Amino acid sequence: MDDRQFRQAMGKFATGVTVIATELEGDIHGMTANAFMSVSLDPKLVVISIGEKAKILNKIKESKIFTVNILAADQQELSMIFAGQLKGHREVVFERLDGKPVLPGSVVQVACEVSAEHVEGDHTLFIGKVTDIHLSDAEPLIFYSGKYLSLEKLETVTI
Ligand code: FAD
Repeated sequence: MDDRQFRQAMGKFATGVTVIATELEGDIHGMTANAFMSVSLDPKLVVISIGEKAKILNKIKESKIFTVNILAADQQELSMIFAGQLKGHREVVFERLDGKPVLPGSVVQVACEVSAEHVEGDHTLFIGKVTDIHLSDAEPLIFYSGKYLSLEKLETVTI
């Protein structure tokens, strides 16, 4: 199996899209990520997976905090900004949840303190202890097979 085939196969797992944000010495840094899942209910833990080349990696290691912002269907541009897919710096306004930077308009904002980190291959898994959460009624942005989708455009499957 080559890298392309592995990526293609993993891309068949439809996900939401998040922006992970952290703050170090007053500077907020964000990165688009879909490697996110809930880990534990008691205590409330989540996990994110950050590539070794990502600039945000050392920032989270130092700050020991991060937020996960689950993007809404109308926030594709933010996903592209924080994935470095749009040229030039764009001004992005953050608000605060539990003192940590979060993106307004997200479906869910999750504020975390790093409780553990594990290096696995070329990624680092950060376990986040959830310190606060904010939910809205917005529809989520979907990522599947390298493309952005919205639930509205998908056929509803009735069970
Ligand atoms: P940079 O390249 O420095 O930042 C990325 C972009 O965000 C830059 O354009 C920068 O200008 C902008 N930016 C950062 N902070 C701000 C700010 N405060 N205001 C305005 N703009 C700002 N990679 C992973 O490691 N794990 C994943 O789970 C993952 N999932 C992904 C899912 C999707 C759908 C996509 C499209 C990409 C994913 N990536 C993932 C890749 C990752 O988003 C890119 O490699 C990213 O560019 C790496 O960011 P960086 O930390 O190196 O920071």
